[in-house]
Amino acid sequence: MKIVTVIGNRPQFVKAAAVSRLLREAHDEVIVHTGQHHDDELSAIFFAELQVPRPEHQLHIAGGTNTEQTARMLGAIGPLLQDEAPDVVLVYGDTNSTVAGGLAAAQARIPVVHVEAGMRSFDRAMPEELNRVLTDHLSDLLLVPSETAQANLARESVAGRVVLVGDVMVDVSMMFQPRARTELRALRDAGVEPGAFVLCTAHRAGNVDVPERLRRLVDILLALDEPVVLPLHPRTGARLDAAGWLDELAGADHVRLAPPLGYMAFTALLTNARRVLTDSGGVQKEAYFAGVPCVTLRDTTEWVETVDAGWNVLVDLDLHSALTALRETPPAARPELYGDGRAGERVVAAIDAHT
Ligand code: UDP
Repeated sequence: MKIVTVIGNRPQFVKAAAVSRLLREAHDEVIVHTGQHHDDELSAIFFAELQVPRPEHQLHIAGGTNTEQTARMLGAIGPLLQDEAPDVVLVYGDTNSTVAGGLAAAQARIPVVHVEAGMRSFDRAMPEELNRVLTDHLSDLLLVPSETAQANLARESVAGRVVLVGDVMVDVSMMFQPRARTELRALRDAGVEPGAFVLCTAHRAGNVDVPERLRRLVDILLALDEPVVLPLHPRTGARLDAAGWLDELAGADHVRLAPPLGYMAFTALLTNARRVLTDSGGVQKEAYFAGVPCVTLRDTTEWVETVDAGWNVLVDLDLHSALTALRETPPAARPELYGDGRAGERVVAAIDAHT
């Protein structure tokens, strides 16, 4: 079977690491990299470290508004699918690349497989939420990471077949976290000790594109009384710079700014952090899996099980709540939530069974 996989940004490269290699054992896979994340720090290093096969097609589509970017991707992926004529198109998650790949395939009557289907924040102001809902409703095979996702899709009566496979990111965490935990170079580079720092990431449009909200993030970071490592997503770096707050952060002794990190360096920091402070979807799960309590800089999450389990606290950008949550002790129990590390195998099996 021939499968075209459309990916384009950092978390999708991580997810593909759990699937592409397995897929290629039995099938012919063609990877299309849309270019949404194109710099080496957000793209090339992930292919190298996680052994994701080199993309067969690079579309170099980045920048612009979400609407413009998605439209340009659709324009490029349509003819590409005509040439490649795959049996299936595979997409991951909730980005512009996801919805563009899915819609171009559906319009060409090519079956769409959506990995990480069914996630909902129920916040339509998030561009990711629109991408998820649209992709789920045009997909033929919806592979979900959790029972919550399954229930979301049942409630929305999606047309495609829904299969619970677990979370492919757990597979990747299981593969790489044990080694990363013992590689302390990234900690030395940041000047922090194991178990004695907070790791922070923030890049959601709703947090960094609105100056008043971005300032609240800066104030939280400045108020911490322990080292905080902040690998800066380019979008966040640009917004902080434009607002004139980057120097203020850089000038604070306890704030350790870093460029966006490769997966191994980031995972070394994540597994050794005392707490994780983030607005990332993927990082919330990775923290749970690593046994590091997470404080989430949003008022909703798709990964509700981590909150229910007591290992993740939603604080939005409220300073007092963030400082309090960072001091809370997690419960003793940390049940397995998103699968056993074999989601990639189940993805391939579900595709085989569907076609
Ligand atoms: N990540 C990384 N380096 C960093 C920050 C994040 O390797 O400096 C990884 C992280 O381990 C996770 C993924 O990138 O696997 C999450 O990506 P991101 O937060 O950009 O996207 P989201 O999950 O919010 O969609």
